[in-house]
Amino acid sequence: MSEQFDVIVIGAGPGGYVAAIRAAQLGLKTACIDAALGKDDKPALGGTCLRVGCIPSKALLDSSRQFHNLTHMFADHGISAEKPKMDVGTMIGRKDKIVKQFTGGIAMLFKANKVTPFYGFGTLHKGNLVKVKQHDGSEVELKAANVILAAGSDSIELPFAKFDGERIVDNVGGLDFDKVPKRLGVIGAGVIGLELGSVWNRLGSEVTILEALPEFLAAADADIAKAAAKEFKKQGLDIKLGAKVGKAEVKKDGVHLTYNDGKADHKLVVDKLLVAVGRRAATKGLLAEGTEVKLDERGMVEVDEHNHTGVDGVWAIGDCVRGPMLAHKATEEGIAVAELIAGLPGHVNLDTVPWVIYTEPEIAWVGKTEKQCKDEGIPVRTGSFPFAAIGRAVAMNEPAGLVKVIAHAETDRIVGMHLVGANVSELVHSGVIAMEFNGAADDLARICFAHPTLSEAVHEAAMSVDKRAIHKAN
Ligand code: FAD
Ligand code: AMP
Repeated sequence: MSEQFDVIVIGAGPGGYVAAIRAAQLGLKTACIDAALGKDDKPALGGTCLRVGCIPSKALLDSSRQFHNLTHMFADHGISAEKPKMDVGTMIGRKDKIVKQFTGGIAMLFKANKVTPFYGFGTLHKGNLVKVKQHDGSEVELKAANVILAAGSDSIELPFAKFDGERIVDNVGGLDFDKVPKRLGVIGAGVIGLELGSVWNRLGSEVTILEALPEFLAAADADIAKAAAKEFKKQGLDIKLGAKVGKAEVKKDGVHLTYNDGKADHKLVVDKLLVAVGRRAATKGLLAEGTEVKLDERGMVEVDEHNHTGVDGVWAIGDCVRGPMLAHKATEEGIAVAELIAGLPGHVNLDTVPWVIYTEPEIAWVGKTEKQCKDEGIPVRTGSFPFAAIGRAVAMNEPAGLVKVIAHAETDRIVGMHLVGANVSELVHSGVIAMEFNGAADDLARICFAHPTLSEAVHEAAMSVDKRAIHKAN
């Protein structure tokens, strides 16, 4: 006999757990299944984001930043310390405590909202039947009018550099080194490679990032990528572009890499190798034969603009479907689908999902880059403003970076905002809100921003679209 629910969610990441809570809030009898175990081998809800993604990476970025500030920045403020030391075990322990607090928090939220958790691997069968293989080997069967697939994603493994959890690692290992590797190699200068590369670089690793593409951060606006690259170089991050890695051999003295830069083969020996070449949908084993749910050529669940799979009552959200692989995108889709199931309107605007890279300086954007506008034939005017001319940024010793506003040349509507600098993970939301309200650059220019704040760079960049920024030559 199968247990009956209104909604079954497979996966308890920021997509799935949020969908389950929202569905339960709306009075639907909801189950949420998750297979993951924490470092203590006990079930841990929260998905990649809480266990081995967003939260632990930000914990380590913060610890390593404190250390970097102490060793490189405090002297400017007249603060000195004798021989600062980093205890990696304490840093990792702090990170693990935060992870435990938050994964445990989801279990409490499930209890408070009457979501029934099942700990094990779920497979969708024909007719919205879900079979769960639990950790003790037993199997339970659940049925519901609506099933939400929220299986998330896994790291992509390179065939010549298999993860061994010791020398060659993905994000899971890269968040858990027991000491600072003397030489760290990173394959892939994407978000994860840059963030984790920064953590260990700040603690003293010699970090070399090998990126196959000839262009740095191709997804970001070119002006922002250029400014960021300049800062990373100053920090000692060695980023080699157009460097395609073809071989990785584990030997006694380290991992021997061979990469080609289009001209010749080069060798690099590192103590640890972090492979950060992207992620793929975790849909292996998710669908039994006969469900009629379709996967695309990359293994992602095919959905329409409302996250519906085309099969009655089956929806999919988050990293296992099209769109950016970001936690907040998964969350918004989870809320939208739960509301659609309950008969409410639900929609996610993928055009205004903000992106953030939590390096130093931070990088953030929303909307289109100048190049995308050009390629799509959208006529634009742009305005930018450097943090070096913002009093608050200089007072904080954070003068690096800029804000760039891109507006439609005829309507003045904001089509993109791109930022690199201190705290831009927060500032980007002024762009998101402006775009969601169909705001124009002139609207932002005519709003009163507090002084002295970093947000004034957004204000001045918006004014600069019309060549009327005050604190720079237009
Ligand atoms: P996931 O979080 O991957 O959760 C899916 C869950 O489903 C997992 O727990 C999995 O075990 C479970 N599952 C899968 N299949 C089954 C099954 N068949 N049965 C039962 N359970 C199953 N994004 C940001 O927005 N900001 C960041 O700062 C950020 N930092 C990141 C840093 C790192 C190092 C990494 C790796 C990722 C980061 N991300 C970040 C991306 C973010 O983690 C993902 O976009 C987000 O977790 C996706 O959420 P999700 O709910 O779709 O899937
Ligand atoms: P992201 O998708 O943001 O996580 O970034 C992954 C990066 O890894 C991309 O920029 C890819 O170009 C890069 N990449 C993939 N395969 C290789 C490889 N064999 N050598 C070097 N870089 C690679």
